[in-house]
Amino acid sequence: MGRIEVLIGDITGLSVDVVVNAANSQLAGGGGVDGAIHRAAGHQQLQNACRQLGGCPTGQVKVTPAFNLSAKYIFHAVGPVWYGGQRGEPALLASCYRQAMSLAGELNVASIAFPAISCGIYGYPPELAVPVAIEEVKSALEKNCTLQRVIFCCCDQSMAEGYQRYLNSP
Ligand code: ADP
Repeated sequence: MGRIEVLIGDITGLSVDVVVNAANSQLAGGGGVDGAIHRAAGHQQLQNACRQLGGCPTGQVKVTPAFNLSAKYIFHAVGPVWYGGQRGEPALLASCYRQAMSLAGELNVASIAFPAISCGIYGYPPELAVPVAIEEVKSALEKNCTLQRVIFCCCDQSMAEGYQRYLNSP
């Protein structure tokens, strides 16, 4: 699928229309990619914008401006905490990607970058998250013609290899 790319680096530095955040359900800011996005976007103004949204249920996505990022929007996706897979984690993770892709379509954006939602502090095993992420994005891309680039942005090589391997598998 030509429109999907895998990059290693800091998601806050990418020139894309949408940066997706792996947020918590309070939209309160936190560690990991959430902390990096808050720092780069401007902590105070992003926190004010998030506060007005009144939280976000797990599996859903809410939008704020991107403030000091070069992006237009931040999509705050609340991924599931991994409890072993029996508490609906795959469906909740899939829902994050599906909703983000659908919002990208509604907002007519051309590019979006995802971190590996739930694969850090929330403990989702990367080898199980990668297929969910890629399958949802692929099926959304079949319906969305405005998106020209979907980037899976990874902090490290092994995560990036996981995406690449799955994308290259028959
Ligand atoms: P969660 O709480 O959903 O697990 P984390 O932020 O802890 O979210 O981690 C999600 C993924 O984002 C992890 O794979 C982590 O390595 C990665 N990550 C952390 N900081 C950044 C960043 N600045 N850019 C891209 N990915 C990042």
